[in-house]
Amino acid sequence: FAPWDDPKEKPLIRFKGVTKRFGDFTAIDDLTLDIYEREFFALLGPSGCGKTTMMRMLAGFENPTEGVIELSGQNIVPVPPNKRAVNMMFQSYALFPHLTVYDNIAFGLRRGDMPKHDIADRVDEMLKLTRLEKFAARKPHQISGGQRQRVALARSLAKAPKLLLLDEPLGALDAKLRQATQFELVDIQEKTGTTFVIVTHDQEEAMTVASRVAVMDEGRIMQVATPEKIYEAPNSSYVADFIGDVNILTGTVKPAGEGLYQVHWSEGREPNIAASDKNFSEGQTCHLAVRPEKIAISADRPADADNALQGKVLDIAYLGNLSTYHVELQSGKVIKAQTANTRRVSRRSFTWEDPVWVSWTATAGVLLDR
Ligand code: ATP
Repeated sequence: FAPWDDPKEKPLIRFKGVTKRFGDFTAIDDLTLDIYEREFFALLGPSGCGKTTMMRMLAGFENPTEGVIELSGQNIVPVPPNKRAVNMMFQSYALFPHLTVYDNIAFGLRRGDMPKHDIADRVDEMLKLTRLEKFAARKPHQISGGQRQRVALARSLAKAPKLLLLDEPLGALDAKLRQATQFELVDIQEKTGTTFVIVTHDQEEAMTVASRVAVMDEGRIMQVATPEKIYEAPNSSYVADFIGDVNILTGTVKPAGEGLYQVHWSEGREPNIAASDKNFSEGQTCHLAVRPEKIAISADRPADADNALQGKVLDIAYLGNLSTYHVELQSGKVIKAQTANTRRVSRRSFTWEDPVWVSWTATAGVLLDR
């Protein structure tokens, strides 16, 4: 078992010690992972980390060099792509331009041995699921981009695969439609109960749609957890840094009892306080990952702040609902602090070069092993 797998969940997919090499390059490195039944799972990571290779191995376009991939307990490595209960939806959709929406959805079913009236029932069900009933007779060029995306989805779900792989499924849509479609995708996944695995470059998208997210780096999995956990409790500075904005501070800790640590940040003079449920020993060097929205900015040192550092305002970005301040500490390190612009608070309470304090509570960040 990998440390993030939950023995209470029923795995649909199991990667067991999977390695994929291309020549002497290792694209996937001894990877162990369970993807559960009925889950919406996202693979996230920088370009080249191996996301597509994972998808291609699931689809059967690529075989592992070592290790086993199971689907419902069966090793699928020797099973050819068309014999797997797996389907893949590509970003390009690959719809047949000369076929109607109806026929595009029916295409795969007609190539099997499903009786005609069952095919008709199934296509109707898919049209309803994806709200395409009115467009059944149209050709792909006669519908919108969002509708084409839904046709592709209907078609890839028509044969009721156990696993649907989605490679940048919303990449072709503009930002607004993309957001609306994310919720639709979640809705359809829930209704069908099919396990979805999505690859996207858009972290926000992964966080919106997925029940669990795997953050990858160089062919390895760094952390698998719910979006909330990935954001609130990253297990490494890599994950913290990859997902959203984060400040990473370095300090030496001294246990102070009850899960509290006295910390000397390398940026500050006086001791501060951090909370953690992990064990660190006296004198150990740690990182603290703290999100900008957890950092307050003030003219004076707040009397009750667990952590406070002095600096000056370097930059201010006004983002409408939020403002982001870049505060340069005396050491030259820059801390990002984000404040919500509620109607009553003035938008810019500080300006460039203002001397300020940045502060946060003991529980605002995550203390990490260096
Ligand atoms: P991106 O986000 O850019 O699509 P990715 O995370 O999907 O990246 P992969 O396509 O899985 O990355 O590739 C992982 C690594 O394996 C890359 O360094 C890539 O160059 C390498 N790779 C993939 N396919 C092959 C191949 N057929 N031959 C050689 N190297 C390959």
